Amino acid sequence: MSASTPRVLILGGGFAGAGAAQKLNGAPAEVVLVDRHDYHTFQPLLYQLATGLLETSAVGHSLRDLLEAHGDATIHKASVRDIDLGRRTVSFDGLESISYDYLVLGLGAEVNFFGTEGAAEHAFPMYTLPHAVRLKDHLIERWEAADRDPNLVSDGALNVVVVGGGPTGVETAGAIAELYRGDFVKDYRRADDGDARVTLVEAGPELFPMFKPKLRDYAAKALEKRGVEVRAGTAVASVSPTRVTLKSGDELKAHTLVWGAGLQANELVRSLGIELQRGNRAGVAADLTLPDHPEVYVVGDVAAITDAKTEQVLPQLGSVALQSGEHAGETIARRLAGKEPKPFRYHDKGTMATIGRGAAVVQMLGGKTMTGVKAQLAWGAVHLALLPTNEDRAKAVVDWAGGAMTHQRVGRISVENE
Ligand SMILES: Cc1cc2nc3c(=O)[nH]c(=O)nc-3n(C[C@H](O)[C@H](O)[C@H](O)COP(=O)(O)OP(=O)(O)OC[C@H]3O[C@@H](n4cnc5c(N)ncnc54)[C@H](O)[C@@H]3O)c2cc1C
Repeated sequence: MSASTPRVLILGGGFAGAGAAQKLNGAPAEVVLVDRHDYHTFQPLLYQLATGLLETSAVGHSLRDLLEAHGDATIHKASVRDIDLGRRTVSFDGLESISYDYLVLGLGAEVNFFGTEGAAEHAFPMYTLPHAVRLKDHLIERWEAADRDPNLVSDGALNVVVVGGGPTGVETAGAIAELYRGDFVKDYRRADDGDARVTLVEAGPELFPMFKPKLRDYAAKALEKRGVEVRAGTAVASVSPTRVTLKSGDELKAHTLVWGAGLQANELVRSLGIELQRGNRAGVAADLTLPDHPEVYVVGDVAAITDAKTEQVLPQLGSVALQSGEHAGETIARRLAGKEPKPFRYHDKGTMATIGRGAAVVQMLGGKTMTGVKAQLAWGAVHLALLPTNEDRAKAVVDWAGGAMTHQRVGRISVENE
């Protein structure tokens, strides 16, 4: 690369950052991608890792492997410390500062506990690979403990409270209930007395507010069938290692509280000195650049992107992140080739969520809906398309098919530090 070659710095190797890097393949630029991990995390499958359906390598994929085809991209594992928009420079922990001609900011979102007492210390969030592994290890450890001393069951050792009636909470509650009733009751025969409870708590009046009422009813019934108790209209007030207190005053005995209730954009956007929108997301122009900074593209969960068709802010979804990242990469490549940039157009593939084996809901843009096995297949197709490589797709299909046929979760082992 000559000293005059423009540098594109991509922060974050999630759907958005990796999508941008892939579209810069062959562009006349030095492309540098920095992420605090050396892997890309496929967040929609975290709950399958946490419940033993998938193994770690099916959910986290080496960024170097993923971007291998893009021979010019340099990848660094380092945490961003500060972004100086004026000086066009980013500083890192453990890596020298890097200046840029174009910046793609795809640092994603992080958990928001909304100040709930004890949540930061005792809750199990579900947003990263280490979170999912930690939850799985904890669930296995609690069943092991109850198998050794069945008296722990009456203290709530096996009980799980899941917070949040959106897709993350519903998927996680359904998967934990299936793991419990399908596998753990057989694995730990001394522990189970039929009393292990999975409770889903949602502050709003109903689950799945983004879906039509008939899909909400379907989801509530599918959860009930799996033994999940739904408590809507009440929020969690505080959490301790063994108890969850609701704002209604009820105290639930539970040694596990899974947090799937709230997100906020990566805290680094707060230091940019720009006006932020709901959830601390950075508002962007139609071409996904920051106002007054045509060299800075903000993409994925960290951005508040207004849909050109509906004029609504797009939700924080994998397909929005991937498409917006790809758009940034393509647009920078166009600009480097002296072409005009184009505005971003989102292609909606529908809103969907799984509840358990053979149970899912899909709502298409035109209002068409699907439930059951058909919806689960549609969910599988859309999410397979989001997986980064053919190898990952093959691996996921084998694991899902294996799980569907044998009803077993082969990943239900804990690999602790010795
Ligand atoms: C549990 C769960 C289930 C989901 N299910 C679905 C679903 O079924 N369908 C769907 O479409 N969407 C789903 N989503 C949403 C989807 O996963 C996100 O919208 C998508 O991952 C956002 O992509 P992104 O690239 O913007 O951010 P991310 O994927 O979060 O990537 C951000 C990257 O930035 C890196 N990073 C963060 N901070 C720093 C730092 N300081 N320094 C360096 N690197 C940093 C991170 O390591 C990460 O690799 C789900 C999300 C979660 C959490």
